[in-house]
Amino acid sequence: MLDSIRIRLTLWYTGVLALVLVVLFLITYVVFLKSVEQRMDADLSELSDAFLVTVRAELEDQPAPDPFTGAVRVAIVEHHFPEDVCVIGDATGKIVLSSLDVLPADSSRRSPPANLLESPSFQQFLNGALLAEQFFDKVKGGKSGYRGFARRFSARGKNYTLVILRSLHPQNEMLEDVTDTFEWVIPIAILLASGGGYFLARKSLAPVVAMSSQAGRIGAANLHERLSVQSEKDELGHLARSFNSLLERLSESFERQRRFMADASHELRTPVAILRGEAEVALSQQERPLTEYRESLSVLHHEAERLTRIVEDLFTLTRADAGQYPLQLRDFYLDELIAECVHSARTLALAKKISLTFEGAAESPIHADESLLRRMILNLLDNAIKYTPEGGQVTVACRRNSSEYALSIADTGTGIPEEMRGRIFERFFRADKARSRAESDGGGAGLGLAISRWIAEAHQGRLELTRSDSAGSTFTAYLPASRDTAVSTG
Ligand code: ADP
Repeated sequence: MLDSIRIRLTLWYTGVLALVLVVLFLITYVVFLKSVEQRMDADLSELSDAFLVTVRAELEDQPAPDPFTGAVRVAIVEHHFPEDVCVIGDATGKIVLSSLDVLPADSSRRSPPANLLESPSFQQFLNGALLAEQFFDKVKGGKSGYRGFARRFSARGKNYTLVILRSLHPQNEMLEDVTDTFEWVIPIAILLASGGGYFLARKSLAPVVAMSSQAGRIGAANLHERLSVQSEKDELGHLARSFNSLLERLSESFERQRRFMADASHELRTPVAILRGEAEVALSQQERPLTEYRESLSVLHHEAERLTRIVEDLFTLTRADAGQYPLQLRDFYLDELIAECVHSARTLALAKKISLTFEGAAESPIHADESLLRRMILNLLDNAIKYTPEGGQVTVACRRNSSEYALSIADTGTGIPEEMRGRIFERFFRADKARSRAESDGGGAGLGLAISRWIAEAHQGRLELTRSDSAGSTFTAYLPASRDTAVSTG
């Protein structure tokens, strides 16, 4: 049950609310208690002032021999003390007179217990009162106890203590009312809040539940489906959009893989069909002249070579995609590598009467994978020669621009149609399939430029078609130059 976010959220919410309500109750209780006590203390102090004013006024009018007791008696009657007990003690703490002696017991009010003034708690209070000018404390007695206030005063040269005791019963009743109210308000509030919390959690998580069931239904077969975005701006909308863009990327990569597989098998089918056909023809007759066998074997050899090239290229790209092609980086001179590649391609160029020149370059130290760069340069040279008509010209140049080398291979071929320029780096893309395959003598599969671009990028560089028109094309590879000029060519 606790596995559900809805339940967990509701429990948290209810728990926090219960805590807040209990703390609120405690604070209310304490504040209420303090304020009632303060008000009561102020009342008692005011009452004592008025009482003493009456006593002093009456002292003048009371007859001898004990005008003081007479004055106090009048003051007690005058101030009535409906709920309180008034006590006058002398300087030693002996009780001179109390309202319990003066006023008749009143059935309409809660009368104090008869032995209140003899109780140890009152005696203790009185002892405390003798030590201070004014004194407040609790006195036990009756059901709820009393709040006691004492003050010293003098009359006719003698010191006395006035004590007023007020029952705490009404105050306790009020506090009990507050407690009773909270006792039913808190559970009801918690009940309502947990119901509301559960409803809210359910409502706000409903889109997540809907999204997860939608997402659960999306598989390879319906990868084009998307989650419905209910609100564009909130967090769930953001989640749905992120999920959809993940699906978009997955779907694109899935589509790329599918196309790659389809193109790869298509490319492999042709040489395999040629191999099979040629072998079948060779084997169909019992006896054939030796030259025919040699011709057949030569075709088989060419096709096997072409197959090997395609499989190797595919293998390279698959490892590159998986990030598993380890670069064998070392220091060497790029200009020397270009010169070697140009030298290797010279035979190809000569066969087509193409003039192949390397404009040369200053020493160009580089830290790179030499065999991969060789493969890239040979690919580009091979293409330049392949797509340049007889008698044309291929020019290789290498310049250093601040922190990178710009290695360009320009030809005077027919150029690449404008609408195809954006796609020539795609895998298996060939601008002119028939020509590309025929002229390459067993031909490329349209993977050369894809691999060359990957090689440049694997070296933190880039490969671009920088010019292509009816006068020819130029491919430029930008490669980061080595910061170190002292290189070993070993
Ligand atoms: P391919 O094996 O077909 O040469 P690439 O990936 O090397 O495959 O090249 C892709 C396509 O780009 C080629 O089929 C060709 O149409 C075009 N192309 C590449 N280099 C040149 C060039 N120098 N001149 C004209 N077209 C080119």
